[in-house]
Amino acid sequence: MDYEEGTGWGEPRIVPYGPLLLDPASKVFHYGQTVFEGMKAFKWKDGRARLFRPLDHVRRLNRSCARMCVPAVDEARVLGALRRLVTADADWIPEAPGTSLYIRPFVVATETQLGVAPSRSYAFVAICSPVGAYYAEGVRPVPIYVETEHVRAVAGGVGDAKTAGNYAAGLKAQEAAARMGCAQVLWLDGVEREYVEEVGSMNAFFRFGDEIVTPPLGGSILAGVTRDSVIRLLRGWGVSVSERPVSIGEVAAGLRDGKLREAFGTGTAAVVSPIGSLHWRGERLTVGDGEPGELSKRLYETLSGIQRGELPDAYGWMEVVPSA
Ligand code: PMP
Repeated sequence: MDYEEGTGWGEPRIVPYGPLLLDPASKVFHYGQTVFEGMKAFKWKDGRARLFRPLDHVRRLNRSCARMCVPAVDEARVLGALRRLVTADADWIPEAPGTSLYIRPFVVATETQLGVAPSRSYAFVAICSPVGAYYAEGVRPVPIYVETEHVRAVAGGVGDAKTAGNYAAGLKAQEAAARMGCAQVLWLDGVEREYVEEVGSMNAFFRFGDEIVTPPLGGSILAGVTRDSVIRLLRGWGVSVSERPVSIGEVAAGLRDGKLREAFGTGTAAVVSPIGSLHWRGERLTVGDGEPGELSKRLYETLSGIQRGELPDAYGWMEVVPSA
């Protein structure tokens, strides 16, 4: 679906997968004006596919658009197109537990002009791919590298938008994490390098005693759809969740004195990923006994159960797509 200044967004079309033809002077290549989303569809036992919270993803896409000067898409039109796309591809969704169809909608600036100004034309594209279970052999805690030099985003920047530049800014730290044998980077704030922001592609949660703490949505982190789902599940179970600043010093002290009992990340890809250890300033701090924590496991099982249609969808998160 294309956008032209004056005429607005056109009608979405479903076409066979293939390369995009873009002019080398397209603004996206030079100034990074682009936004994207990542969401999943699951096939239930009745053979029909369901999308997980698609409207919330489209709304977040539009918030990213607003920050990046991309014209908003029509929610209903994009939702309709995504439903049709999933229906067309439903046969590709594997039946095995934990498998799904990953959908990646994105918008790129296509105006052919070298000059820093919002583009006057855009292409909206959505691609999808079947994905296997993130934890094919059971949920395993992952080692995480705490980045103390580079920052991913600062308040006032574009950290709360899902835009390519945030991920490009993180590649250097991701390399360092991989060298340390770590799966992802834990980002600290861009001013003092003290407060926890988020993990590479996940929001971060810590359990101090009976309180669950997650950094607030202050403008530099992504408002994860899974983060919101997990907060609602926890509060529904009567668990206290505080959205408050949490420093890496508090986390390290909690790990040393045993008060920090669990840590986990949340995101579309892994759902809930227990954190097994934090590598911070050359030190390896183990979380709990290195096994997935009680709440991490319960959250993972509950949310994946809802997504697979094995547990009641009390919050109305699953949306069935039309049958082919
Ligand atoms: N933070 C970042 C930077 C991400 O890329 C993601 C993945 N979209 C998340 C958090 C988690 O968001 P969600 O739960 O919506 O997938």
